[in-house]
Amino acid sequence: MNLLKAAIAARRDQLIALTQDLIRIPTLNPPGRHYRDICDYLQARMAPQGWECEMIRAHGAPGDSEQFPRWNIVARRRGAGPGDCVHFNSHHDVVEVGHGWTRDPFGAELDGDRIYGRGACDMKGGLAASIIAAEAFVATCPDHAGSIEISATADEESGGYGGVAFLAERGAYAHVDHVIIPEPLHKDRICLGHRGVWWAEIETQGRIAHGSMPFLGDCAVRHMGAVLAEMEAALWPLLAAKRTEMPVIPEGARSSTLNINAIHGGAAEQAEDYTGLPTPCVPDRCRITIDRRFLIEEDLAEVKAEVTALLERVRARRPGFRYEIRDLFEVIPSMTDREAPVVRTTAAAIERVLGREAGFVVSPGTYDQKHIDRIGKLKNCIAYGPGVLDLAHQPDEWIGVQDMLDSAGVMALVLQDLLCREAGSY
Ligand SMILES: [Zn+2]
Repeated sequence: MNLLKAAIAARRDQLIALTQDLIRIPTLNPPGRHYRDICDYLQARMAPQGWECEMIRAHGAPGDSEQFPRWNIVARRRGAGPGDCVHFNSHHDVVEVGHGWTRDPFGAELDGDRIYGRGACDMKGGLAASIIAAEAFVATCPDHAGSIEISATADEESGGYGGVAFLAERGAYAHVDHVIIPEPLHKDRICLGHRGVWWAEIETQGRIAHGSMPFLGDCAVRHMGAVLAEMEAALWPLLAAKRTEMPVIPEGARSSTLNINAIHGGAAEQAEDYTGLPTPCVPDRCRITIDRRFLIEEDLAEVKAEVTALLERVRARRPGFRYEIRDLFEVIPSMTDREAPVVRTTAAAIERVLGREAGFVVSPGTYDQKHIDRIGKLKNCIAYGPGVLDLAHQPDEWIGVQDMLDSAGVMALVLQDLLCREAGSY
């Protein structure tokens, strides 16, 4: 057996134990628990093997506090000579547990080929696979060129501002040549990027009055109803007709989409144990939060103009219609070129390890690549890692051991191709 392949296979038990240890640290976000603990764990593993470990707290980032500090770790191994820097970035935070589990969400139970737990696939399995890949590669090519970095970062699930964005602003990617983000996109696929995002809040305004005499007021909820009716009639058909050349998966996300994430109007909802009746008022405010996902062929200014044009059409025909629109969040689409070095090297490695051609996909939602692209100014970045994307954030989330081994093999081979002079087969 080839040396590198044997080095990965020999680490099967270690890979399982590492994944289990990581899952058992419940790095829940929100509020951001045990971030320091997981960074300490990684430092304790890697520093004794000669990795320089830097602990970085994102002071002042959203959510950062003395109670819930935003800790990140970057582990770096310098090779014997000059060469490229290959960086693996994983987020260490996980989303809430939710309902419907039949396994202990932080038990990391191994059952057959699967390890169960919150974060197993998104993305502690990917983090573990990248560490094992790097360790196996270093064992077979100790005098490699360039450098390898492994980062575990905070808050990807809540925008990445206490994690990759913070690191990128500090210049953490300035010397990096290749980035692989081991998000669960499946071991035979390369994710080139993601669609764009625009979140905004639209508020319609009216006048409060007694609910028994609505003609004395002006109902903001009815105004919002007119906005929603116009969206049904004109906006959703328009968006569905826009198709992208980006290979977005699932297929439905190859069009532009818009979700209404929330709607609020009238009296605030009371707590569940409140036993009183509501009061009769004409709502004077109604708000919706829109979540518009757009394509690389679209321009953000045009995306916004579609919505303001719609609101102006409603205003033109509805007496008293007043609205405000507030931007909440925006991300430009990101898509790495298929000819970029990290794409070509990873595609070739997938073919050699798995014996089939790599697939190329684009994510419907965003992930930390946006910060590496926009703030870090690094285009040579992909997401590639083990796991089934649909399991992310679900109950009984799991990661397959064989999938992790296979993708660790791919990552190790990428390191060999980029950093080892005697690059061999697999
Ligand atoms: Zn993730």
